[in-house]
Amino acid sequence: MGEGGGQILRSSLALSLHLQHPIHLVNIRRNRRPPGLRRQHLTCVLAAAELSHAKVSGAEIGSTEIQFKPGPLHPGRYVFDIGTAGSTTLLLQTVLPPLLLATSPSHLTIKGGTHNPFAPPFDFLQQVLLPQLQKMGADVRLRLKRWGFYPKGGGVIEVEIGPVVRLHPIELMERGELLTLEANAIVASLPRHIAERELTVLQHRLGIPHGQTKIEEIRESGIGNVVTVTVHCQAMTELFTGFGQRGKCAEEVANELANEVAGYLSANVPVGPYLADQLLIPLALAGKGCFLTMAPTRHTLTNIRVIESFLPLKFDIIQHNQSQWRIDLSHQ
Ligand code: AMP
Repeated sequence: MGEGGGQILRSSLALSLHLQHPIHLVNIRRNRRPPGLRRQHLTCVLAAAELSHAKVSGAEIGSTEIQFKPGPLHPGRYVFDIGTAGSTTLLLQTVLPPLLLATSPSHLTIKGGTHNPFAPPFDFLQQVLLPQLQKMGADVRLRLKRWGFYPKGGGVIEVEIGPVVRLHPIELMERGELLTLEANAIVASLPRHIAERELTVLQHRLGIPHGQTKIEEIRESGIGNVVTVTVHCQAMTELFTGFGQRGKCAEEVANELANEVAGYLSANVPVGPYLADQLLIPLALAGKGCFLTMAPTRHTLTNIRVIESFLPLKFDIIQHNQSQWRIDLSHQ
């Protein structure tokens, strides 16, 4: 269905835990190579099972089918170790929504990758998603204890969740005036000039002043390079990320990132394409809300279908103009 990837699994597990609804998933990541559960997805299933003392079948690497029957949620202290560079932030996508509305607090330590391509980097969770969750009334704090870059991993994040009875709906229709753009280049056990070259491109392309750029050199966490641009607007903050990779020059990484930021700025919307798909489950838990975003991604469309198959909710997607879409959640 839809995007066909790990997101269907993560969202289904999150909603299954929240609703105490058994699920049977088939054709999991069937068109991916390799198909089925990879370690990162398996950890999501096992973490969800641990939290709810669930009965599970099919929880093994490569499996394309699982049955998952959760019991009541048991908030508390947990350590989830993905064991590879599998994304800690994607594991959090599975377990955070139900724990936000649990009956007692939780403290999670999640070990794995903290800055992985194709996943929200830790900074995105902290600077973009978290403030929106807090606006909705969630009581959650995040700490990066140790960086973990793909492929070595070894990162650690800590999450403290104080439960709340409900999440409040939000409306994110305007981002307000642009206040500042900030660029941050991180090099772990790589030469400093990579970060310098990335920042030079970003300063030139986006007009970011030198005083709004930062280089972080990290020694203890494997090899990696990540560069972020944070867009601070009056009503909200967005963040975009470029991931360095072997064989791709620093200028190319920064130029692709600059294109993403420029696309967001010119669309004049508050919610970027990644935040859009990540806001849907919190909105669904609040039961209501709306936001203005860019063209809905396959992740967003897929997440909507998953949520609508669990809950009597309806997301309307209304195109306002060439660059703006409104996503509106209502009861069916
Ligand atoms: P999947 O491809 O199914 O594993 O899902 C990837 C998830 O990571 C989606 O929720 C995306 O919004 C999120 N994601 C991917 N890249 C980024 C990024 N650069 N910044 C923030 N979130 C991201």
